Amino acid sequence: MCGIIGICGKEMQLNTAQNLLQLLVHRGQDASGLAWVDEYGIHRDSKVKSEPKFINIDRADISTAIIGSTRYPTYGDRTGGSATNKFAQPFSFQTRLGSLSLAHNGQILNMSQLSDKEYSSDAELITHLLGKLINQGKSLEESIKELMLTMDGAYSCVGIIGDKLFAFRDPRGIRPIVYAQNENFCLVASESVVLQQAGFDSISVLEPGNYILFSGLQSRPVELVTSKEHTHCMFEYIYFASAASKIEDISVYQTRIALGEELALQLKERNIKADYVVPVPDTSKTAAQPISEILQIPLRDAIIKNRSSKRTFIMPTVETRIKAAMEKYLFIDSLIEGKNLLLIDDSIVRGLTLKYLIKLLKQKGANEVHVAITSPPISQACYYGVDFPTRGELIAAEKSESEIKEEINASSLTYLSLDGLKTSLKGLEACYACIDGNYPTPFGEQLKEISERAFLLKVNGSGVS
Ligand code: SF4
Repeated sequence: MCGIIGICGKEMQLNTAQNLLQLLVHRGQDASGLAWVDEYGIHRDSKVKSEPKFINIDRADISTAIIGSTRYPTYGDRTGGSATNKFAQPFSFQTRLGSLSLAHNGQILNMSQLSDKEYSSDAELITHLLGKLINQGKSLEESIKELMLTMDGAYSCVGIIGDKLFAFRDPRGIRPIVYAQNENFCLVASESVVLQQAGFDSISVLEPGNYILFSGLQSRPVELVTSKEHTHCMFEYIYFASAASKIEDISVYQTRIALGEELALQLKERNIKADYVVPVPDTSKTAAQPISEILQIPLRDAIIKNRSSKRTFIMPTVETRIKAAMEKYLFIDSLIEGKNLLLIDDSIVRGLTLKYLIKLLKQKGANEVHVAITSPPISQACYYGVDFPTRGELIAAEKSESEIKEEINASSLTYLSLDGLKTSLKGLEACYACIDGNYPTPFGEQLKEISERAFLLKVNGSGVS
């Protein structure tokens, strides 16, 4: 998962782009970068192994087209050990139409089929493939269409060709991308929160399979490839996106409220009792509100996020995740000792953080720790840009719900049902592959079979015939 932005206008400050990109740091904090057209029409960039606010730019510099990226590694260097330029976006390529710079959110599944060369990043691969198609004599639009017909996976992209800004999105619309324009400038971003903060009221979704070239005030998207089925990532609503954003015109905040309402009905049916509803900060705080109201159990912040910590889910290695989890939370002991707690979290992926939290709460004298999760069990890998790449890493792949309850040492464990999730999403066409194993693209299905064989080998010590 990454965050991307693009800005075009007469005199856009790099500083403004940097500040807007900082709003997408929740989508990736491994590296970030900006690329822009300078006063001589030359593409320049600046990248850093950190958050956008640390990108080295001349704050007064202006440009007519700027793109930016916050990186979350799902492919290539996962620790940031290699040179920043090798993995941090945007990437560049020289074409007959001028320099091309590009940033990408998503993941390409058939990279080896698309190129003999090994790339350290799928964003770099897309940039080079697009540049090569253009250099064969095709227009930008024709080149993007050809890419869309050959690439398998998730991709929302923003780029600059010469001095023009453009964007495109995969035909299934797995990753979000929105845009807006007024008389002064145009803005594209992964999430609407960026456009809202920039003062836009009217925000458009770039529809799946569409491409847009910004030239003038009335730029219109063009549908290059029609897809029968849109499969937006449901995990954006549960965890990834900012609560302040709308994804596919649906409020992330309201969806999280709905997730809490659905989960509360299940908890009521199970007659779960507690002294306090305690959200695991930050994502599950929204869903915890209706759970508290419906169950009539007071909501208390017994766990507080250490404000200097980063999101553990988007840490690159298990070791850094555990270390970060230990530094991430602070506790209000008076709300814990001798109390029965109902802990609300958005998902259980590896189960490391929750197991650690429950252990600490019990050490601090909690009586019972019930757990309720605003998603169904995540039991399958994601190949579309979320970092749970192998089934072997997922606690729900091997263990039943009661085994997970034992493993994390919870007093009870309640997952939101798949029906409850679908009701919360109000009929949105979505990808649920990490829950139900139905991958929306052919290479996703192929990778599932390979992963299934590896998983059975691990579990049984033998292959399948
Ligand atoms: Fe999102 Fe899960 Fe589909 Fe990945 S597999 S795109 S996380 S819904």
